[in-house]
Amino acid sequence: MNTSTASAPESALKTYEQVAAASNEVAGLLAKRLKTETQGEVLFSAADRGRYATDASIYQVTPLGVFVPKHPEEVATAMAICRDLKVPIVPRGGGTSQCGQTTGVGLVIDHSKYVRNILNLDLQAGTVEVQPGMVLDTLNASLKKQGVWFPVDVSTSAQATLGGMAGNNSCGSRSIAYGNMVHNVLGAKAWLSNGELLDFSLFENSSGRAKQIGEFVKQLAVQHQAELQTHWPKVLRRVAGYNLDIFDNQNVRPYTADGQVNLAHLLVGSEGTLAMTQSLTLKLSELPTSKVLGVVNFNSFHKAMDSAQHIVKLGNGTLTAVELVDRTMIDLSLKIPAFAPTIRTAIIGEPEAILLVEFAGSDKDKLKVQLKQLVALMGDLGLPNSVVEMVDDAPQKNLWEVRKAGLNIMMSLKGDGKPVSFIEDCAVPLEHLAEYTDALTQVFQKHGTKGTWYAHASVGTLHVRPILDMRRDGAVKMRAIAEEASALVRKFKGAYSGEHGDGLCRGEWIEWQFGPSIQQAFAQIKHELDPLNLLSPNRMIDPPKMDDTSLMRFGNNYKVIPIQTALDWSAWNVHNDAATEQTTLPGTGQDPAQGLAKAVEMCNNNGTCRKFDAGTMCPSFRVTRDEVHATRGRANTLRLALSGQLQGGLESSEVKEAMDLCVGCKGCKRDCPTGVDMARMKIEVQHHYNEKHGLSLKDKLIANLPRYAHIASQWSGLMNLRNQSPMLARLAESLTGLSAERSWPEWKKEHFFNSPLAGVSAQEVLTASKPVVLFVDTFNGYFESENAWAAFDVLSAAGYQVHIASRTQQNTPGQHLCCGRTYLASGQVDKAKEHAKALLEALLPFAQKGIAIVGLEPSCLLTLRDESLVMGLGEMAETVSTQAVLFEEFLANENKADQLASLKTKLLPAQKPILVHGHCHQKAFGLMPSVTQVIQLIPEVKVDLIESSCCGMAGSFGYEASHLEVSKQMAEANLLPSVRNREDACVVADGTSCRHQIMDGTDRKAVHVALLLAQHLQR
Ligand SMILES: Cc1cc2nc3c(=O)[nH]c(=O)nc-3n(C[C@H](O)[C@H](O)[C@H](O)COP(=O)(O)OP(=O)(O)OC[C@H]3O[C@@H](n4cnc5c(N)ncnc54)[C@H](O)[C@@H]3O)c2cc1C
Ligand code: SF4
Ligand code: SF4
Repeated sequence: MNTSTASAPESALKTYEQVAAASNEVAGLLAKRLKTETQGEVLFSAADRGRYATDASIYQVTPLGVFVPKHPEEVATAMAICRDLKVPIVPRGGGTSQCGQTTGVGLVIDHSKYVRNILNLDLQAGTVEVQPGMVLDTLNASLKKQGVWFPVDVSTSAQATLGGMAGNNSCGSRSIAYGNMVHNVLGAKAWLSNGELLDFSLFENSSGRAKQIGEFVKQLAVQHQAELQTHWPKVLRRVAGYNLDIFDNQNVRPYTADGQVNLAHLLVGSEGTLAMTQSLTLKLSELPTSKVLGVVNFNSFHKAMDSAQHIVKLGNGTLTAVELVDRTMIDLSLKIPAFAPTIRTAIIGEPEAILLVEFAGSDKDKLKVQLKQLVALMGDLGLPNSVVEMVDDAPQKNLWEVRKAGLNIMMSLKGDGKPVSFIEDCAVPLEHLAEYTDALTQVFQKHGTKGTWYAHASVGTLHVRPILDMRRDGAVKMRAIAEEASALVRKFKGAYSGEHGDGLCRGEWIEWQFGPSIQQAFAQIKHELDPLNLLSPNRMIDPPKMDDTSLMRFGNNYKVIPIQTALDWSAWNVHNDAATEQTTLPGTGQDPAQGLAKAVEMCNNNGTCRKFDAGTMCPSFRVTRDEVHATRGRANTLRLALSGQLQGGLESSEVKEAMDLCVGCKGCKRDCPTGVDMARMKIEVQHHYNEKHGLSLKDKLIANLPRYAHIASQWSGLMNLRNQSPMLARLAESLTGLSAERSWPEWKKEHFFNSPLAGVSAQEVLTASKPVVLFVDTFNGYFESENAWAAFDVLSAAGYQVHIASRTQQNTPGQHLCCGRTYLASGQVDKAKEHAKALLEALLPFAQKGIAIVGLEPSCLLTLRDESLVMGLGEMAETVSTQAVLFEEFLANENKADQLASLKTKLLPAQKPILVHGHCHQKAFGLMPSVTQVIQLIPEVKVDLIESSCCGMAGSFGYEASHLEVSKQMAEANLLPSVRNREDACVVADGTSCRHQIMDGTDRKAVHVALLLAQHLQR
């Protein structure tokens, strides 16, 4: 396997070494000039460089620095500075490339933060011009009301930028209908490395330097016509190399409908190695208004693969997708309660594979006819009664969700063996798909591994990632499997790189694919456009070996530093078996960081945490758009710290900075495909930071609140003075860092904990017929006692015998129970453990009897189902966790069990519609349906859920002066505007800090669901 020059790998290594060894003087000069000549962000710290050293590939190459331009012109300025200093440039969007395209020496230019606008929308022409940093979903959201969309629907649509998509010639699930990126780009304005800004568009209309480039490439295409005919894969999905075939089309779908040559197509798929895109003009498509889905069930995987070639002939132009879900994915989905019902609606018996066949258009009735033709075809192919017909939108949508989730589960395998992407997107002609997949499965078996197959059967691009351990023999096996897979691709005349591009992983395969002569032509194209070799050098031309471990994230020198963790991370500290995916027992994985490093390494940089949906993950990134504030940025920072690549380790200021805006919302625990739980990691990291740097006054004040609350409440008048006097508020801010702008919760002399004893005794509840234990937390007990009383009243009205949990079984002041949450928030694990232990001891007898323990504050109650289990509190924590439920969860469960008949008769009809904001931890535990179900117990109620992320208050976060602005921005992202828009509604929010934020931002009093129900009780 040789590339165009005999010494290619050495050459790549040389460039790397040269720049890696670049004197601080060059880096310093570069940073200085960027700072003085632009207003952009200049990120040259070790942590910043480390965060930009990786993308969604297995590679890691540390850049000299990172530049985040504020204006497009600053890209040109940065390029000019790099030219002067001879520093290579790596263009970057969302950094979700799977082959290492955005890892490189030199200066990384990140377009995703600021350079992301629509420049021109021409609905008449059906075109839009965008800046390269614009995210696909953002574009499509703004186009939706116009009835059009940009249809290259990559799976990463929520975070992939159009510049990156063009760079990689990305392809969506519906490429059979709409083509790849190259089929949908109409023009590009781009800078060459010498600073010229060119308009790449129709060759025929071009002039000047662009025309000259066109002529040059044309002449190469003519010169290499014979090789183009023989070596160029004749499939839709070929993204390797440069598109020399613009002048001699080889694609099964011509790049332009009328056969014209568009010079922009030369840049598409060039992975930032030819020019830097300033803007792209894109072709828009009509947004289909109707869709139907046929789910074909197969009793053999081979048959599914063999049938794809026939299915794609259906539809009369309405077929938009044929997507595979294999048996492993079906099984994985069936194991998840949330997905099992959906997947059951799609399967007949126990299929080995299903194909999701979608038809889309404007007339549902016509699409139903296509569905019938699919049924008929399957009958002809010997599979009668194999199609589940889905005509309604909801089941279709649910099934597409399951298809995505299957991949997520696959990625969440614990242990060092991971599904690795390197032959994930080979494309073969459909008539060979069955033979190809059979043969590759055998290759995996031969190498002691396995792969799960999924995705784009319509175009012969099936995704598969064999499980490899890159710290041990992964690189060797990767090479061996790649060699055998490539032989199969050649045998079936396919494309080795069919979707994800070349980068570091497949650069060396370009010559293999096209032959030395065309590779030489590619080198000439690179030289013509970038003679300075400034743009991502040593990638498409003179690339390194794919298995060069010196370029890998878990290369030969990767070592974890031993540390003693405060929390138990043993669940991650396991080994796995690549062939069976079985993991060893917790704690046996030999992680010197006791499992923490392996938990952090779960992040594979796929970038889902950079999405901008109104969901939960990741609120701080959604506000700042800084890589450091995405879960990915945090995980990468921790990985660098734990492996000695960041001076000062976990106690360093870089780690503190990365964690600073993490609100501990647990959004990542729920949404991250690999289950990175940054909220828990933040506790661990703060613990280590405290050990070295000590605690601040603010941390002590907030953490110890449960301890001094009973005294403070006695002095409520004095304590509340701070809220009445701006001067005192400012003084408090200067002493504690808690913002003078925020009101503090009001202390009350009379509160739940010093009110007369309520409820049944511990003894009584243990023998009661309808027993329940109410755990009242510090916040609801001292500051919003009405919620605790309300819960008590509602539960009593429903016929339960309610026991109020307390330390001494007596409600004496100062003896309330606490989960330890306020201590966890500042990393004080030992103190949190003391409190949690007392709580667990008090709750254990009830839990052992199977009595539900009902809590009101989501973050407090759910501590019993989360952090309590990893603080070394043993079996008692496990037992209590099984009984700990939120108030709404308890009632929703009881309602399902028909236990709320009497309560329902006592509820008065609703006077107002209800608007619900979910607490992050409720969302992370999937509990929002319980809230709406319980509200629906109220007769005639109308309830709407706000599509919101974190409220921005997050415990003490929003009270802190240093976080005030970010806190407000988080709230303003969705929550507060939604509340303001619904003046007619009563707002329900179960989190105490959420209610505070809503009051501060809108002057509206939100209520706990318990209070809402109590307000509707007939008295
Ligand atoms: C889980 C997962 C699923 C994926 N699914 C798909 C899929 O369905 N289909 C698919 O095609 N891909 C897929 N990908 C790959 C990847 O997400 C896409 O290629 C995506 O389009 C990359 O967008 P980005 O903004 O992250 O680009 P980046 O990774 O940042 O960059 C991509 C390339 O474009 C270049 N580039 C970026 N900006 C510019 C610019 N201004 N000028 C010149 N060059 C530039 C970069 O140098 C790089 O070579 C997937 C990846 C992951 C991790
Ligand atoms: S934190 Fe999770 S979602 Fe974010 S990049 Fe890492 S693995 Fe992906
Ligand atoms: S806990 Fe929340 S804020 Fe922190 S990284 Fe996860 S999603 Fe982001």
